[in-house]
Amino acid sequence: MQFIEALKLKSKLFFLFIFITMALVSIGVMGAINVDSMKKNLDSLYFGSLVPVTELNEILQTYHSGLASTLYKAKGLEISPSQTAYELQTSLKKINKTWDSYESHFKRDAELQYVEYVSVEIKATNNYFQEMLKISKDGKDMKDLSISSLEKYVSHIHAVLQKLINYEVNVAKFERKNFLQEYNDSTFMLGVILVLIILTMQIILYSVFRSIQSDHTKLEVAGKKLKKLNKQLENVSYTDSLTSMHNRRYFNLIYDKELKRAKRTHSHITFMMLDIDYFKQYNDTYGHIEGDAALKSVAKVLKDTLQRPSDFVFRLGGEEFGVILTQTDESNSAKLADEICEAVRSREIKHEGSKVNEFLTISIGVVCCIADDALNEDILLSRADEMLYNAKEDGRNRFVITSNVSDATIMQLSS
Ligand code: GH3
Ligand code: MG
Ligand code: MG
Repeated sequence: MQFIEALKLKSKLFFLFIFITMALVSIGVMGAINVDSMKKNLDSLYFGSLVPVTELNEILQTYHSGLASTLYKAKGLEISPSQTAYELQTSLKKINKTWDSYESHFKRDAELQYVEYVSVEIKATNNYFQEMLKISKDGKDMKDLSISSLEKYVSHIHAVLQKLINYEVNVAKFERKNFLQEYNDSTFMLGVILVLIILTMQIILYSVFRSIQSDHTKLEVAGKKLKKLNKQLENVSYTDSLTSMHNRRYFNLIYDKELKRAKRTHSHITFMMLDIDYFKQYNDTYGHIEGDAALKSVAKVLKDTLQRPSDFVFRLGGEEFGVILTQTDESNSAKLADEICEAVRSREIKHEGSKVNEFLTISIGVVCCIADDALNEDILLSRADEMLYNAKEDGRNRFVITSNVSDATIMQLSS
């Protein structure tokens, strides 16, 4: 069943459809052939045996009750010559007609010779009755009729016809036996063929279903792999390649989610915007590769300092980082911002180009508030940006925090 495996799902189903159709058609054709041959057998049994036997019996009966009994009555002067002539003529006509019909049926080679003999004997017997008919037609009575010659003719034709009847009955029995044997044989053959077709059908159905099942399993495995790869791809698309931190794309997602959650629960939300001080000078002094290493160091400080599952750190771009804290009030947020500044400083990354410290420092703008339905989605970002600007203005290497998130303040500041 290798070829089934090679087919596509659609072709497998089509193959199944064609196969079942063919199996059903062949069962139907076989059934029809069987019924047809039974019909032919019944026909031959009916016309070949039953009808001829009936006809021969009818002829025999006519000789006895039609011809012989008429002559007996005529001899006893029970009926008139004209009545006798009428009875004889009718019976002879009936015998000839029935014999013609009998002869017209199919005859086997073995019986042809005897049938011819019977035909001659019927003619001879009928000639005798024709003679009697002539006498009656002439108006003479049958007083002098010889009973012994009448009985001789009738018993002879009786014996001849009876032999033919016996033969036909035997043929009918033989034919019936043959027919029953043939019926049993063909029923048995039909049964065997049906069993074979059903077995083949079951084997093929099993193969096709197994193959479909294995396709399905392969598809499931491929689907799982694809899902895993998609997840990996998604992770890659959310990760910054330099620091292995989450990137701006992921920040957008988490920021939206956490803000909504805080609004729902009316809880604290904190956003920090971090920026390395005089980083341009750092690059200029130590080179871009050292600059990258410094970025990684700051990233590590952030990861090490903020380890709660509800703390999120991101590299937003360049030398700027973002932090989202949930369930953290203003004083704790301030404490954490201070810790971050201190941790970066205590790394003691030499920065000769800095105007505020001999080591690399950062400035942080922090905004912390209790979220409510009125909280504007962009306000945390712009307020943190303002606070970062303030921290830079105030001398860098520090954080500035606010809990004021009213739109009015922003309008005022920007005007
Ligand atoms: P300030 O204290 O006002 O923030 O001054 P600054 O020099 O840090 O500010 P500015 O925005 O002018 O300079 C940012 C610099 O950060 C510019 C660029 O050379 C550097 N930078 C941005 N992305 C990367 C990076 O991926 N790797 C390295 N090595 N440097 C970067
Ligand atoms: Mg900057
Ligand atoms: Mg900077």
